[in-house]
Amino acid sequence: MPATAYAHRFAQLPPYIFVELDRLRAEAVSRGEDIINLGIGDPDQPTPRPVVEAMIEAAQNPAYHHYPSNSGLPAFRQAAADYYARIHGVTLDPDSEVATLIGSKDGIAHMPLAYADPGDVVLVPEPGYPVYRSSALFAGAEPYTMPLRRENGFLPDLDAIPDAVYARTKIMYLNYPNNPTAAFATREFFDAVIERADKHGFIVVHDAAYIDVCFGGEAALSFLSVPGGREVGIEMCSLSKTFNMTGWRIGFVAGRSDLVRGLSGFKANMDSGVFNAVQAAGAVALNQYETLVPPINRTYLERVEALTAGMQELGWTDFVPPRGTFYAWLQTRGGMSSMQMTKLLLERAGVVVVPGLAFGAQGEGYFRMAMTTTAARISEACQRIKKANLE
Ligand SMILES: *Cc1c(COP(=O)(O)O)cnc(C)c1O
Repeated sequence: MPATAYAHRFAQLPPYIFVELDRLRAEAVSRGEDIINLGIGDPDQPTPRPVVEAMIEAAQNPAYHHYPSNSGLPAFRQAAADYYARIHGVTLDPDSEVATLIGSKDGIAHMPLAYADPGDVVLVPEPGYPVYRSSALFAGAEPYTMPLRRENGFLPDLDAIPDAVYARTKIMYLNYPNNPTAAFATREFFDAVIERADKHGFIVVHDAAYIDVCFGGEAALSFLSVPGGREVGIEMCSLSKTFNMTGWRIGFVAGRSDLVRGLSGFKANMDSGVFNAVQAAGAVALNQYETLVPPINRTYLERVEALTAGMQELGWTDFVPPRGTFYAWLQTRGGMSSMQMTKLLLERAGVVVVPGLAFGAQGEGYFRMAMTTTAARISEACQRIKKANLE
C-alpha cells in the first residue's frame, strides 16, 4: 500500500534538510571517532538531587495518581507565583494568572491554535525556535518573518514591519535571552513592543525558556515586569533549562488571565496535563531556586571562559562571550555556508555544531555552539578546530 498523504497542514512544513549531516555524524560515531558534541540544546548535568528526592516521595502519594487538574496542581502554581515575585518582581495570582504546561513548548505550540485564524499574521523571529513557525502554519495563520540581525543586537526591527501587516497580526513571538543568538532584550525594546501591541491589538508571547540561565552578572528581563507587558502578553516559562529538567516536561504560562484561561481551555481538548508528582517536584525546584540555580549557572560561566580563551587562540574576533543561554552564535569562516561549515567542523575537527539554517533562512552564514559539555571538552574542541586550519 502506498504511503498515505499527510494532511496539508503537516505536508506544508519545509522538508527536513539535515539528513546528510545526521548521517555523517552517526557514521563518525559508529567508526568510534572521538566526537565532541557542541550541538545539543539540552543540559548535560543531572536534575538537582532535592528535586529527584521530592519526585520519589511524590510518586508514592496515591493522591497524585489521578488525572491532574486542567490548570495544574495548586501547590505548583503557588510556587510559580512565589518564584515570579521573588526572582522577577512580578506579582501574579496563582489561580488565574498561572497554569501548568507540559514544558513551555506545549504553550508555545498551542497559542496560534487557540488564538489565530486563517488570514491572521503571526510574527516570528528568525533565526529562532522552529516551533513558532510550524504552530502558526498548523493554525492556518500566516507566519511573517522578523529577521534578527547582528547590527540590531539580534532584536527585530519593529519599524520594518508594515502597518498593513501589524493590522492583521494576532500574535508576536519573542524569545530573550535568545536561542540561538544568546542576545538579551533591552527595556527600551520591550517598551516599543508593548506600544505596538497596544496600538494594533496583538498578543505578545514571550518564550522565557532561558530567563534564568544568566551568568554574565546581569539578570534577564521578564516581559511581564515591564509596565504594560502584562496587559498585552504572556510568558512561557520552563523548568527545563533552569533546573536541568528537560526530560520531566514541566513549565508554566504566566500573565494575562484571559490568555492563560484560553490556552488552558484549548489544551483541555488536547492533553490531560502533567503528572501531579512531577508538578510537586517542580514546586520544590522553584521554591529552592536560590540554592539550586546559582551552581548551575556558575558551571556555564566556567564553560564560557573556556570558550572565550579558545576563541582568542583561534583569532575569531567576532566572538562575543554569551551572558546567558548556553549558546554561542558564530559567523561561518571565509563566507562558507552554514552547512559547509558544519560539515567541515565534523570531518576535520570531530566537532558537532548546529548549522544556522536549522533556525530558518535568516540563520544562514552562522552556526551555533552549545556549552552542554565540560570546559575541558570545549577547550579541546577549540584546539582541534585550530589544528584543522579551516581558513
Ligand atoms: C528548550 C526550548 C524551549 C522548550 O522548552 P521546554 O520547556 O522543555 O518545552 C522553548 N524555547 C526555546 C527557545 C528553547 O530553546
